[in-house]
Amino acid sequence: MTDSGDGPGARGGTAAGRFAGGAAYVGGRFVPMAEAVLPVTDWGFTRSDVVYDVVHVVGNRFFRLQDHLDRFERAMARRQLRPPEDRAAIEAVLHRCVALSGLRDAYVSMACSRGRPRVAGSRRPADCDNHLIAYAIPWIDVIPKEVQERGAHLWIAGVPRVPDASVDPTVKNYQWSDLTGGLLEAHGHGFDTAILCDAEGYVTEGPGFNVFMVRDGRVLTPDRGSLEGITRRTVLEICDELGIEAAVAPIPRALLEDADEIFTTTTAGGVMPGARLGGRILGNDRPGPVSLRLRDAYWRWHEEGRHATPVRPLDAAL
Ligand code: PLP
Repeated sequence: MTDSGDGPGARGGTAAGRFAGGAAYVGGRFVPMAEAVLPVTDWGFTRSDVVYDVVHVVGNRFFRLQDHLDRFERAMARRQLRPPEDRAAIEAVLHRCVALSGLRDAYVSMACSRGRPRVAGSRRPADCDNHLIAYAIPWIDVIPKEVQERGAHLWIAGVPRVPDASVDPTVKNYQWSDLTGGLLEAHGHGFDTAILCDAEGYVTEGPGFNVFMVRDGRVLTPDRGSLEGITRRTVLEICDELGIEAAVAPIPRALLEDADEIFTTTTAGGVMPGARLGGRILGNDRPGPVSLRLRDAYWRWHEEGRHATPVRPLDAAL
């Protein structure tokens, strides 16, 4: 692991011993990733009845940890999920997973599952014992680093994003049928990943990321069908700081198809430029200048320690 270079991912972890490969918290215990398992009757598995969040650690520091915890707490409240751990305990669990793993750059997931009914055969969500699952594993890029470097080839999926009124996209969830459908389509056509529009033809998001477009120097991101991404929020703040005009707005598909630049954002990758949209080549078939400026600023904020929370050492956690 080195501290030089372009953001994390290129940087490996230093995990050793039992927790090499990552550390998890499941059933109230810390275990190596390979031992982190769920009963097959858990509603988190059988019904995707689970909410989750993902925060990253770069250089042994969480980025925007409190914002991720805020979003996770809100998601649990929206789905009436109540794990035994309170917010402080959840935070301590996340610190401990990272510390146990020994990773300095990590993908850190927290999930709350509905669990299983206490009353055999019950179909009532309220009869279930909700439980917290968390883990820290080596850094993941939703779009591989080398694809980010050349600029992702993006496919506008035919499958529409599920309506917001059916599955609230601001509650981070595992109901990925439409997103996975888009991914299958994209790969089938030889593209890297997909962007989904809603049934009315407005741009939403993709499998694991928010979408941005740049047109005449103005940055736009969809106002619907999307998670309120923490990376998206950071990019909007960076735009504000750099004096780049930015807005959350309706984006009809035709507007996206006319973009000067497109980039995607996620905790598991940061600001990830695109180079093609369907048959259309953007710019010079390379990441565009505004995308690169925002990507650089995003990692600079990390280096400067903005929104950073140092990982607590093992003897301090819990
Ligand atoms: N949209 C979806 C569907 C996601 O799964 C994610 C992250 O996993 C995002 C957007 C980006 O959100 P964030 O920047 O908070 O990671």
